[in-house]
Amino acid sequence: MAHNVLISGAGIAGSVLAYWLAQRGFNPTVVEKRSHLRQTGGHAVDLAGVSIEVIERMGILPAVSGAHVRHDRMVFNQRHGRPIEMPRLTATIADRHVEIQRDDLTEILHAAAAPHAEYIFGDTITAITDGSGAVTVEFENSARRTFDLVIGADGLHSRVRRLVFGPEDTYRHDLGAYLSVYSYPNTAGLGSEVVGYFDSGRAAFTYPVDDGRLARALLLFRGAPSGDLRDPGRQTRAVRDAFADIEGQLPFPIAELHESEDFYFDSISQIRMDTWSKGRVTLVGDAAHSPGPAVGGGTAMAVLGAYVLGGELALAGDDHAAAFANTERVLAPAVAQSRKVGPSSLRQLVPANRLAAWLTPRTLRLLTRLPRRVSLALFSLQGSDTSKLDDFSSERLPVG
Ligand SMILES: Cc1cc2nc3c(=O)[nH]c(=O)nc-3n(C[C@H](O)[C@H](O)[C@H](O)COP(=O)(O)OP(=O)(O)OC[C@H]3O[C@@H](n4cnc5c(N)ncnc54)[C@H](O)[C@@H]3O)c2cc1C
Repeated sequence: MAHNVLISGAGIAGSVLAYWLAQRGFNPTVVEKRSHLRQTGGHAVDLAGVSIEVIERMGILPAVSGAHVRHDRMVFNQRHGRPIEMPRLTATIADRHVEIQRDDLTEILHAAAAPHAEYIFGDTITAITDGSGAVTVEFENSARRTFDLVIGADGLHSRVRRLVFGPEDTYRHDLGAYLSVYSYPNTAGLGSEVVGYFDSGRAAFTYPVDDGRLARALLLFRGAPSGDLRDPGRQTRAVRDAFADIEGQLPFPIAELHESEDFYFDSISQIRMDTWSKGRVTLVGDAAHSPGPAVGGGTAMAVLGAYVLGGELALAGDDHAAAFANTERVLAPAVAQSRKVGPSSLRQLVPANRLAAWLTPRTLRLLTRLPRRVSLALFSLQGSDTSKLDDFSSERLPVG
């Protein structure tokens, strides 16, 4: 049995996988490039459906539920007329759903896995040599080591993927939109609400964080900004240019983005790979199949993918190739579904024209007012997950 497993990335997938591997007799080591778990530019993420079952089986559902974000209302500002208010859609219709700050979730997952795994913070893999019977890994700061398996759980811009499978461009599919997140002082006194604004080709949302001391802005826009978007100066300019003409209508001051220490900018992109395993190396979570940040339920997929991979490795004994192939096969329908969700939720989140921008908050309000059974059915038609965890484990996967 392959005992020593190196996992790159102490995010969602990395710690879920470390936990389940340790439960099943492996020795996981997790290397995380950051010196601590809390990232800059945090954001809320969603757990629903089967991912909640995984969290429950890890015994951490009370901690996760206790840390859920408490935004129970939505308020949509209008170009003309009074704001449209409603309860949160997910709170109204989702069967089991937890919205939680990503940093809170990674801390809870780390606390569950850390007693059973070695964690190395502030380091990263620089080279991977997949030899016969073992993988030799070089690190930026630590000494060279060998492992039985290496697993890239290092997110959308995975380094393991680049080192083993080649450049990101080969696998990245841009969905034609960008997102930006940053924090600013909550001087407007946002309470328990999310305030949003839809316009043609763009959308802006804000909500309180850090016990209301700060608020977070989330901006999404379509387009093709010019220049080198790896340059932070060009990134802030691209966001400002996209919203400058509607600045007065936005629910927060856009000027703050220049002063924010945690400004985040990225294209909304999916990772599409025919296979994400090679030799003794595989990928998990966003690194393998990101459905696109903020649009496709990547967190739930990361939790599910890590759980399935942990189970398949335990079942396969020494046959890691079979475990990797089984994992990809079992996850394939969910991955295919999550790829469809991104473009369709992007269409809803970022309206194509003024009419759609006018309609979107009204459609959302209607959904919250329909009988729960009806809105749940409509919501399910749009890709909401109604599977059970056992659909992914079949009779072969131990429940743990
Ligand atoms: C702005 C934004 C909003 C989002 N909103 C939502 C949402 O509403 N709902 C939802 O479900 N999902 C959302 N997502 C997506 C969600 O965050 C991801 O799908 C999820 O975090 C994927 O988990 P992961 O473990 O695969 O990757 P990540 O959570 O990205 O974790 C990767 C880890 O690897 C580490 N790492 C990276 N490179 C290296 C390296 N070279 N060496 C070592 N470690 C490394 C990182 O520091 C990180 O800790 C959003 C994402 C963003 C950016």
